[in-house]
Amino acid sequence: MARIVLKFGGTSVADMDRIRNVARHVKREVDAGHEVAVVVSAMSGKTNELVGWARDASPMHDAREYDSIVASGEQVTAGLLAITLQGIGVDARSWLGWQIPIRTNGAHGAARIEDIDGSEIIKRFETGQVAVVAGFQGISDDNRIATLGRGGSDTSAVAIAAAIKADRCDIYTDVDGVYTTDPRMAPKARRLDKISFEEMLEMASLGAKVLQVRSVELAMVHGVTMFVRSSFDDPDSIDSGPNAKPTGTMICSEEDIVEKQVVTGIAYSRDEAQISLRRLPDKPGISAAIFGPLAQEYVNVDMIVQSVSEDGSYTDMTFTVPEGDMEKATKVLEANKEKIGYEIMQNDKGLVKVSVIGMGMRSHAGVAATAFSALAEKGINIRAITTSEIKFSVLIDADYTELAVRTLHTVYGLDSAA
Ligand code: ADP
Ligand code: ASP
Ligand code: MG
Repeated sequence: MARIVLKFGGTSVADMDRIRNVARHVKREVDAGHEVAVVVSAMSGKTNELVGWARDASPMHDAREYDSIVASGEQVTAGLLAITLQGIGVDARSWLGWQIPIRTNGAHGAARIEDIDGSEIIKRFETGQVAVVAGFQGISDDNRIATLGRGGSDTSAVAIAAAIKADRCDIYTDVDGVYTTDPRMAPKARRLDKISFEEMLEMASLGAKVLQVRSVELAMVHGVTMFVRSSFDDPDSIDSGPNAKPTGTMICSEEDIVEKQVVTGIAYSRDEAQISLRRLPDKPGISAAIFGPLAQEYVNVDMIVQSVSEDGSYTDMTFTVPEGDMEKATKVLEANKEKIGYEIMQNDKGLVKVSVIGMGMRSHAGVAATAFSALAEKGINIRAITTSEIKFSVLIDADYTELAVRTLHTVYGLDSAA
């Protein structure tokens, strides 16, 4: 017998038929003798609709009220799944964040889980009851509903798995595992049997939305074994017995991966904007004068490129921010124009950051150079580059996203044989 957390995302609970299918997955695990907690997302599209209503009510809305609105989608699915399970003879009870409780900090809209009391859920396991937990939400230190940021139900699931010391956390979604790149972008993407926490963390933070970044972080810190698998498989075709190995992709420690690749995957992140400040005086303190005020306004600056004029007297600074923050960033920079001392500010929207990730980059030289020439051959202009230990990223025009992702996927030998 094992203790398992199962998480079902939006498309997996999109309508009553899908919820009935999810209930069969849960029943299969219960029938196999396991203790089961389930975490559910809102029905697909629901959270977007709720966010839209909140924005419509007021663009400058109070974050606490935003949270009480957008958290409601998960309440509905938790109740519906509990009823459906009861209907097929599985003892089940729904739980909202505050009922467990899942305690978070006060960063409404992007709260972090601080503590979970899993004792009541564990107590009910003894009577065979299944806990159906509303994902994406908790209760903040000011006693109000708080949400965990988009895609946050993954994080709820891993945090609960850690709190109740589950043997496993299965993330059921609309793809049957983690692929070498988004399978919707590159049909030749290959499913990975295993991926290391470190690589998955990079993939997620560089745009692969299959898992929320924070969920991978938590799994790594607490040693939670995580699988990504499909909810669309026929529940009866899956073995849940004591020796069964879950289908899908296992997220695990680097040591558990025998066949290490130089490049493991490609990720992309849309909606990037670029800002260039031209003809700045090249003197100490200039970076602080630019990025200090931006940080104060919570603008997240990502890639930074600086180039100095031939005689060394002037410099240009180019950097990226999320497209949604561009207006705010340019306002901040305009307000500080004199202090910074730039002559011209230019900005561009509609860019994408494409990233190549792989542990093998630590020990192999020239990995990035291969990408630069492959992209050049396709006529794709690189606007900025950043590199770190196990990844590098290039900033390009969004029109070339698909071509760039597919080209890099091929050039690093990731294409499936079929
Ligand atoms: P859920 O609603 O179940 O949380 P998400 O839409 O958040 O599902 O995440 C699943 C989606 O992630 C897939 O449909 C896929 O398009 C996308 N995705 C992006 N990168 C990858 C990747 N490397 N492997 C698998 N899926 C990926
Ligand atoms: N429903 C939330 C969202 O769409 C949380 C989740 O699905 O993980 O972001
Ligand atoms: Mg998701």
